[in-house]
Parts: sequence; C-alpha cells; structure tokens
Amino acid sequence: MSSFADSASAQDNATVYFDGISNRRHIVSLAFAHALEIREEGATPVSWAYDDIRQTDGPAGMLRVSCLSAPPLARLEIRDQALAAELVSRCARLGENRAGGGSVGKIVGWSVAAGVSIVLLVLFALPFAADRLAPLVPKAFEQRLGEASEVQIKTIFSDRVCDRAAGQAAYAKLLKQLREAAGLDTDVQSTVLATEVPNAFALPGGKVYLFSALLTKAENPDELAGVLAHELGHLRHRDNMRGMIYDGGASFLIGLLFGDITGSSALIFASRSLVTASYSREAEQNADSVTIEVMHKLGRSPKPMGELLFRITGKEGGRNLSILAGHPLTEDRLQRMTAEDRPPTGPPLLTDKEWAALKAICDPVAKKK
Ligand SMILES: [Zn+2]
Repeated sequence: MSSFADSASAQDNATVYFDGISNRRHIVSLAFAHALEIREEGATPVSWAYDDIRQTDGPAGMLRVSCLSAPPLARLEIRDQALAAELVSRCARLGENRAGGGSVGKIVGWSVAAGVSIVLLVLFALPFAADRLAPLVPKAFEQRLGEASEVQIKTIFSDRVCDRAAGQAAYAKLLKQLREAAGLDTDVQSTVLATEVPNAFALPGGKVYLFSALLTKAENPDELAGVLAHELGHLRHRDNMRGMIYDGGASFLIGLLFGDITGSSALIFASRSLVTASYSREAEQNADSVTIEVMHKLGRSPKPMGELLFRITGKEGGRNLSILAGHPLTEDRLQRMTAEDRPPTGPPLLTDKEWAALKAICDPVAKKK
C-alpha cells in the first residue's frame, strides 16, 4: 500500500495520476483489488483492469503506465519501488506494445520507423517491385539521396569538376532549353567532370553528370543536347531511382539512413551507378523518346545524338557505359534517330562562340593565354 508518512518523502515518492482529460496532477493512492483502484481524496475511485495496463516510457526510477480502457493520455506515475513491484507482479501484459511514449520520442520513433520501412520495402520488395516502387519513393527522400550522392561524386572526382565560367554559362544555357522542352519542373543541376570515359548519367534529385570525354567527342551542340535530353528523360521517368533499386543500391540506401555513407558503400554505389547503371531496355527506349520529343520541340534533329554514340562505340557498343549499357544496340538507336531526322526549324542551341567555350570548360585556367 502506498503510505504518505511524512510530507517530504510523500512528495518525492508520491504516486501521480493524470486523468487524460485535464493537465492537473492528482496525488493518489493505489489499492490492489480485483482491478487496480486509483483513489483520490474526495473523488470517485478510478478502476483499471490489470490486463489493460501497459507500461509506457518514463524516466529511470519511475514506473509510468497507461490503460487501454482509459483515455489515451491518462497516465499513472509510480515512484515508490515496492508499490511499482507490486503492480508489475499483477499486470501480465504490462510490456505489450510499448510504443506510446512521450511526444518527442514518438516523433523520432515515427521517422525512424518510416526510414526503416522504406529500407524494408527496398530489401524485400526489391526483386519484384522496383518498377512499382520507384514512383512511390518520396520526393524528399529522393532529394536527400541525390544530395548524398553528389557529396560522394564530388569526393570521388574531387578536383576534377570543370567550371570555367564561360563554359559554365554556355552549359547552363543549353541545359535550360532542354529542361524546359522536357517539361521538367524540378531544378536540374548538371556538372561536367573531367574523365577519360565518354559517359553521362543521371542521379535522383535532378542531378546530371557529364564526363568531359563525351564533350570532347561531340562535334556540335545537337550531339551533346541529344545525350543530355536522354538523361533528362531518365529524370522525368525517375528511372534513376528505379535503376538504383535494381542495381542493389539497397546497401547504399541503408548506409544513407544510418549514416554510414563512407568507404565501402560509397564505392559500391559509385561503381554501380557510374559504370553499370543499367536501366531496363524499355526505360532506355523511353529516354530516347524524350530525346526525340525534346529535339523536335526545339526544332532540332535527334539524329546527331545517334551519330555521336555510333562514333564512340562503333557497331560493337561499349557496354560498360551507362549511356550504352542496357540500351538497344547503338546501330539500332542511330537508325531510330535517323528516322526521326528533320531539317532544323529552330535556332542553333548554342552560338559558335558558346559551343567553343563549352568545349573548353575543363581547360585549366593556367592554360589560358
Ligand atoms: Zn539511358
């Protein structure tokens, strides 16, 4: 039984009851009858069935319980250890569904649960449902994923980001036209990275990366524009998200959620995304359709893109490049683009001067005369 022998320890050791309706603390005593009776001087006792009593999170040294049949916010706080032990011994189901903690804990718990459920979805639904799953990944999550990937890419390609001002300006102009024609409302950000591999790829959250070797091989703005439009097509269809799921980016996703996005997971992610990001053949054809649509909208021909790819790979096809992996054969793509060839009706996407500046975007500033 609770005993309030002297006032000091009575305050420290008091059993406090919140009725779940008002904010008021009620100092109560407990009686263990066929049910728990919560008694307060001058009030009708409240009775809680032992089987309905559940423990909720509370500070150390205090037993805090709620009751399934009471108002959801009703709480009983027992500080007296003997009394707590007595109650615990009578409540067989005390530990079931210990979830309804304090509100902060609840929010944190909920967001962790949301994160975990994404991971579980990714892991278990993976082989079957990537197609259906990708559109369901929350935009905010995709954004976060894109930002984390960008950090990695910038780390991997640390000082190889090409950013000569005149080239940047030309590149931004080209991208803006393509983005608008593709009807993408999200901010598309693209970076040119200096590498020997002719490639381009898109990452979640509107990131497009262009490898300088592809820029070097491109002979005119339309060739490059077609490739970039293809990547925008992947962004529009959220293929990158799907591709990431397909490619077993699960470990990366988990690393992202739990803060381990360094070392091995970064490498796994980078190698998969940069080298073998193989979308389905259908996704590739759809992305090529976006190229055709965008180039026509701008009054330009998609054929130069086919020519660029053909020049890079010949008939064999360099299957390690994401602009090629999983794609229809380069020859077939060139054929398709050729069938969609139209004489230009729109202005050139870049002036000769802008094109020259873009081609020189990676040139070291020191080389400038
Ligand atoms: Zn593609």
